Amino acid sequence: MTVSTLSCPFCKIAADLADANVIYQNTEFFCISPLQQEVIGHTLIVSRQHYTSLLDAPPEIGVALIEACQSLAKQFNEALEATGFNILNANEVAAQQSVAHLHLHFLPRRFNDDINAWPDFNYSADESAKYHTDATAN
Ligand SMILES: [Zn+2]
Repeated sequence: MTVSTLSCPFCKIAADLADANVIYQNTEFFCISPLQQEVIGHTLIVSRQHYTSLLDAPPEIGVALIEACQSLAKQFNEALEATGFNILNANEVAAQQSVAHLHLHFLPRRFNDDINAWPDFNYSADESAKYHTDATAN
């Protein structure tokens, strides 16, 4: 742990310097219940190593995080009778990232649970296509 990560709340949990409800952990990530749960079973999957976001994380961490999602899905399908899940990930402040340490929000889902994890957008297909073209041109 470096001096800069001492101020990071997730690095403190990784170093056992802060309390958290850790429900699973291994050498690459840990899973905790957030203070404010958006749905029953809402779980944060947090890289053990400090990466600010997906932008500075090695691809291997992505594989580990996906494996965590698969494991949580199996557990919540049985424990909560969940039949699906959403994964939310924010990168940078403009995307509402509140903690600058790579983490995923895992949201177990059930039919008719009244959760809207898929926001409505007000862009036309033509307008959206223009930006996709521009983004991939570079
Ligand atoms: Zn950190």
